[in-house]
Amino acid sequence: MNRRIFLYGTMGAIAALAGGSFLLRERSGYRAMAETFEVTRTEAEWRKILTGEQYAVLREEATERAFTSPLLEEHRKGIFHCAGCDLPAYSSEAKYDSGTGWPSFWEALPDAIGTKQDNSLFMTRTEVHCRRCGGHFGHIFDDGPPPTGKRHCLNGLALAFRPATA
Ligand SMILES: [Zn+2]
Repeated sequence: MNRRIFLYGTMGAIAALAGGSFLLRERSGYRAMAETFEVTRTEAEWRKILTGEQYAVLREEATERAFTSPLLEEHRKGIFHCAGCDLPAYSSEAKYDSGTGWPSFWEALPDAIGTKQDNSLFMTRTEVHCRRCGGHFGHIFDDGPPPTGKRHCLNGLALAFRPATA
């Protein structure tokens, strides 16, 4: 295990407890220390581009409330892009109804995502983010359907759907 990532994860959990009121908001500034990305913007620039809710999810790893995303009912063919930098990230072909209240996919498009271990909230989870801008998408779990057995549990706020034109 990467000791630095473990250390920051622990600190994040402690900070979340100390903060009290925002348990679902895990920590900010973490990823900038761990990785760099092709698309980078200042906090002020991101705030200009994104809505407040999108900013909280993509840049601060907040989690949207279950069953609030309009994308749960999006059943057309098309591509789900990163709401931060517009990178095509997930295909409707891999979308399924997990019953969790968050848009769920069994795989991402090739070269679209990055992952890291997330030790916040006293759990070990796999965090998933945009490969290009680092925007937080959600988490990946091992209880998904075939063929991958993975469940990419995503925040709809982190995605922009573009229907197929053909
Ligand atoms: Zn992105």
